[in-house]
Amino acid sequence: MKNFSLLFEKKCINCHQKTRYKYLLCKDCYEQLAFVDGYRNIRDCDCYFSLLHQGLTKKLIYDYKLNKREVIKYTLSDIVTDKILEKNLQDYILLKVPSTKKSINTRGFDHVDEIVKEVQKNTKMQYIPDGIIKVKPTQKQHNLSQFERMENLRGAFEVKEDFSQSKILVVDDIVTTKSTLIEIKNMLDGNYRDLKFITISSKSNEKSR
Ligand SMILES: [Zn+2]
Repeated sequence: MKNFSLLFEKKCINCHQKTRYKYLLCKDCYEQLAFVDGYRNIRDCDCYFSLLHQGLTKKLIYDYKLNKREVIKYTLSDIVTDKILEKNLQDYILLKVPSTKKSINTRGFDHVDEIVKEVQKNTKMQYIPDGIIKVKPTQKQHNLSQFERMENLRGAFEVKEDFSQSKILVVDDIVTTKSTLIEIKNMLDGNYRDLKFITISSKSNEKSR
């Protein structure tokens, strides 16, 4: 009977105690996530997100990214998928903010790519994994000022494809000071039909336009 009972063991991936309610979490854990109608303005481009980067959200992203708890990618990609559906962005092409080779090697996986692949499966949107590439190694950003971050990122990204006729949606895990997304917007230099951003979480929320 052991295998049979496993089928019914749909426990919350966070507390491992209670039955799953949504996004693989039980109702109590789900309610610990700070869902918002998140919006940040990236030099006149929209950036949407679902969660404030605090509490359980912070823990889940940390456990996924740094402790490699792979199952969390389904929670995070379903949250991103729902935001795309809510904002009606299914006709955009998915791109990801690329990580440095060094951090992919250290972590053992490309955490954003794994999430976007799941979003692609959920939505059937087009995804171009190497649409934006990283051409310059950058330092870790968390101890840098806004100015230093912009300097650190300058010239770090390139595009290989022609997106001048495309509506593109660039995905990242977290938006903090916006420096990365601003650099991507600057690098694209208007060569798109439309550009939007989507992240899982953000350190702050602005009023949407
Ligand atoms: Zn739970």
